[in-house]
Amino acid sequence: MTLARFQMCIGGEWVDALSGKTFESLNPALAEPWAQLPDAGEADVERAVQAAQTAFDSPAWRGLTATARGKLLRRLGDLIAENKEQLAQLESRDNGKLIRETRGQVGYLPEFFHYTAGLADKLEGGTLPLDKPDLFAYTVHEAMGVVAAIIPWNSPLYLTAIKLAPALAAGNTIVIKPSEHASATILELARLALEAGIPPGVVNVVTGYGPSTGAALTRHPLVRKIAFTGGAATARHVVRSSAENFAKLSLELGGKSPNIIFADADLDSAINGAIAGIYAASGQSCVSGSRLLVQDEIYDEFVGRLVERAQRIRIGNPQDDSSEMGPMATAQQLAVVEGLVADAIAEGARLRLGGKRPANLGDGWFYEPTLFECDRNSMKIMQEEVFGPVASVIRFKDEAEALAIANDSQFGLAAGIWTRDLGRAHRLARDVRSGIIWVNTYRAVSAMAPIGGFKNSGYGRESGIDSVLAYTELKTVWINLSQAPMPDPFVMR
Ligand code: NAP
Repeated sequence: MTLARFQMCIGGEWVDALSGKTFESLNPALAEPWAQLPDAGEADVERAVQAAQTAFDSPAWRGLTATARGKLLRRLGDLIAENKEQLAQLESRDNGKLIRETRGQVGYLPEFFHYTAGLADKLEGGTLPLDKPDLFAYTVHEAMGVVAAIIPWNSPLYLTAIKLAPALAAGNTIVIKPSEHASATILELARLALEAGIPPGVVNVVTGYGPSTGAALTRHPLVRKIAFTGGAATARHVVRSSAENFAKLSLELGGKSPNIIFADADLDSAINGAIAGIYAASGQSCVSGSRLLVQDEIYDEFVGRLVERAQRIRIGNPQDDSSEMGPMATAQQLAVVEGLVADAIAEGARLRLGGKRPANLGDGWFYEPTLFECDRNSMKIMQEEVFGPVASVIRFKDEAEALAIANDSQFGLAAGIWTRDLGRAHRLARDVRSGIIWVNTYRAVSAMAPIGGFKNSGYGRESGIDSVLAYTELKTVWINLSQAPMPDPFVMR
């Protein structure tokens, strides 16, 4: 089979790695290579960061008004809308995500650019009511410089959009390192950025492996901010790299999100919510509702109906419109899932469904929807992120016990609450320690709604009205209004 061949985008040019090295991207549904990409080394990262710094300092970018930057972002959003089918197909092929999901995500992607475009010229500073009459001061939000964006494989376009749009709205330039497992759509996005008229060097993409390309980028002394989405272990490397030059950080990490179902919930909706939470995207979602907490009175009925619905999930070719679950994106991820399922069985969790690869689907990295019943929240399968289609369910007596179980986690990214009791919904929304709470729904996102986590789920927020501020430095300017000579130089004014 002939492999599709991609080049990187550095300084507006399409280039190979200086070493000539390449790597292959595999199609997860077939477990075979479909594309060849440059394997960027340290010298390529150096080129990309220098190109981003040059663009940051150039009048072509720095000289633009914030309104003009907003217009470019709007144009980029329009171009994404014009190319949405091609982008959706490409992402589905590259990371094995369902075409119905990638169509939905790419269809919504322009909103992130349009919404953020409108924020570009609203970064207002303030005048300060100083308690020193001879002095006047004001604040300004300024661009930081070169931003490094590190993107995982599960939703590359979406997770890039929520970094790229605010970084550019604030006037920064960017070097993006997508996952080696899902780089194709990010290169396509860079092409659209150039087509939109964003000056060369403002958006750069380097492809390659995390520990080499990613590490070289995150420790580069010219990088002023690192926007990272990925796992905790990698995040620790990135935090250490950032210590080299104190680059600012945002970390969007993993979760073990509780999806809490009370006896008074609309069970049909709650079952769909549980399925959406864990089996959509084959569980490869940071916000997946992988811990199901179900109230005693409805526990047996709920679990029975969940198993029945999950058994009917159509697993298959992600590019087929009728498929409901595709493969794991990588062979490594499949091995992680298999390992954690084996550990759960060894620890005494009761396997109610799945726990194996489906027959008759070839060599693709498919895994069946899987459900464990657990007696203790301390079990490994209740505590560790699987990042696959594996849910664990536990019963609770009352609201207090549900809350205690929900918060007994190292993570705090998302939570679902299913109840018809308004007071209870608000009490739990207040008391559950996580960055996103969904009441009687699950896995909803919006350009207007911040996402991010408490505890080991990271820090910083993406999307929403403050997202652009996260890509700025605050400057305070002091003006002396007095005509008198500068007073005693040895005393602080
Ligand atoms: P990962 O292994 O941590 O990788 C994330 C990114 O970091 C990839 O681009 C990876 O490159 C790169 N990387 C690896 N080692 C690096 C290093 N030493 N220095 C710099 N970069 C390095 O995560 P993943 O397995 O791709 O994604 C799954 C994780 O992401 C899960 O924990 C999930 O919960 C989390 N996630 C969080 C959110 C959120 O918004 N909170 C959203 C989606 C996913 P390579 O892939 O090329 O190695």
